[in-house]
Amino acid sequence: MTATRVLVLNSGSSSVKYQLLDMRDSSRLAVGLVERIGEEISRLKHTPLTGGGEPREREEPMADHEQALRAVADELAADGLGLDSPELAAIGHRVVHGGLKFTEPTVIDDAVMKEIERLVPVAPLHNPANITGIRTAQALRPDLPQVAVFDTAFHTTMPESAARYALDVKTADEHRVRRYGFHGTSHAYVSRKTAQLLGRAPEDVNVIVLHLGNGASASAVRGGRCVDTSMGLTPLEGLVMGTRTGDMDPAVIFHLARVGGMSIDEIDILVNKKSGLIGLCGDNDMREIRRRIDAGDEEAALAFEIYIHRLKKYIGAYYAVLGRVDAIAFTAGVGENAAPVREAAVAGLEELGLAVDGALNSVRSDEARLISPEYARVAVAVVPTDEELEIADQTYALVSDRNA
Ligand code: ADP
Repeated sequence: MTATRVLVLNSGSSSVKYQLLDMRDSSRLAVGLVERIGEEISRLKHTPLTGGGEPREREEPMADHEQALRAVADELAADGLGLDSPELAAIGHRVVHGGLKFTEPTVIDDAVMKEIERLVPVAPLHNPANITGIRTAQALRPDLPQVAVFDTAFHTTMPESAARYALDVKTADEHRVRRYGFHGTSHAYVSRKTAQLLGRAPEDVNVIVLHLGNGASASAVRGGRCVDTSMGLTPLEGLVMGTRTGDMDPAVIFHLARVGGMSIDEIDILVNKKSGLIGLCGDNDMREIRRRIDAGDEEAALAFEIYIHRLKKYIGAYYAVLGRVDAIAFTAGVGENAAPVREAAVAGLEELGLAVDGALNSVRSDEARLISPEYARVAVAVVPTDEELEIADQTYALVSDRNA
């Protein structure tokens, strides 16, 4: 029997998201999520997608990722999809930071683990959880290839002119300070899908991808290769996000420390967790912000304007970086669902060949689609992202190649 299944694991600090896929047709066999790992009561939501099974929920203490993954393995086994199955080909792990070394998905061995650990200082919130997830999966199936798919990999093609800050070179190099970018799996998938939607080869197409979720980032993709992206050393840089400031004069931090008497840790939490949309108006969900705007709320309206202003600046900047733009693609929770954001981001850019058709923009759909009018020089697209499928595809391609 050929093994055709891939389990995708996305391990966060207190959560694990998972999907089991059959790569013969990219279908989902089961999906689920464990939340609040390490808290008093953890919750596992498991949805089998074959055999007509109903979604199930478990609430019980799960002290760590190992217990959580064992519970996931039990749920999968209850559906006849156990991790001991010979049909399982590999486990694909989302790893947030791959630094400069990992430009491709990589089969994990001891040396790879060491390198992911070496990157903890530049990704202190993310890589430790990814490492725990990998270790636990290795313990469950030591014989199985485990593959790391890095959020930073797609951005390693950025030229030095885009990747370097104008910071003293010695200091930057000593502490590995440069722009790495994140959400790369999504930017890779969406830019490729956009080319498909246009019926053209990715090598022939220049795309600006706007990944607007709770975290948000933009990228400039020339002929399938990333040439610039808005997140930097960490995911803090760039667009206004649900809870992050995005771009800000770094001297604000000195000011808050010196004049405001705040500690570095307090400022870190302020700019990452309490700013962005939630800091501006108390809500980070675009649906709620739109409801408030419709009800005449000025604070929500200003937050929306600030969000759009930044987005527009990045569209303009990446237009200049690329020189020629064939398409702009909106993706992730806000990008896929919030028609007013898409409309406002492109409004007034007709001179750049950009426009949105009101009727097409208001259609709700899960499919990749064009929302620009026929006459527009630049296509505007909505392209649902699928990071799990991309991780599974990359993982499966790698292990199939190894076995070929
Ligand atoms: P994450 O970055 O957490 O993966 P998602 O890509 O799932 O986030 O995006 C989540 C965000 O998407 C929510 O915070 C909300 O602002 C936005 N969102 C989701 N559904 C809608 C909708 N129907 N209309 C407008 N915004 C939406």
